[in-house]
Amino acid sequence: MATIFSKIIRGELPGDIVYQDDLVTAFRDINPGAPTHILIVPNKEIPTVNDLTNEDERTAGRMLLAAQKIAEQEGIAADGYRLIINVGKHGRQEIYHVHMHLVGGRPLGPMLCR
Ligand code: 5GP
Repeated sequence: MATIFSKIIRGELPGDIVYQDDLVTAFRDINPGAPTHILIVPNKEIPTVNDLTNEDERTAGRMLLAAQKIAEQEGIAADGYRLIINVGKHGRQEIYHVHMHLVGGRPLGPMLCR
């Protein structure tokens, strides 16, 4: 069954897409935690980082390069931002389609709640 993110990528569900290429798609998070909150997602359905293989090396690298471009596009590159990938139960991953959160647009709090 297709994930919500696959449906957004394919245009079957609405999504505010800010970047798309042959390997990744990025769209605004529906429940933003900061002025900029964008999800960068492989076009291929990969459930978690644990499922990445050597075949996905270009895709994984492209996620970072897309983040760099989008941060520039959003005007937050110079001040900085945070990239987060949640993995599995302890990582509190909700959507089992690999995605990287790009958050910024204001000074962010500490990285972890202790
Ligand atoms: P996770 O906890 O899996 O790392 O994050 C999932 C993220 O996906 C959450 O920040 C949540 O707000 C976002 N999200 C969940 N459903 C949708 C949706 O239908 N559209 C968009 N754009 N974001 C979603």
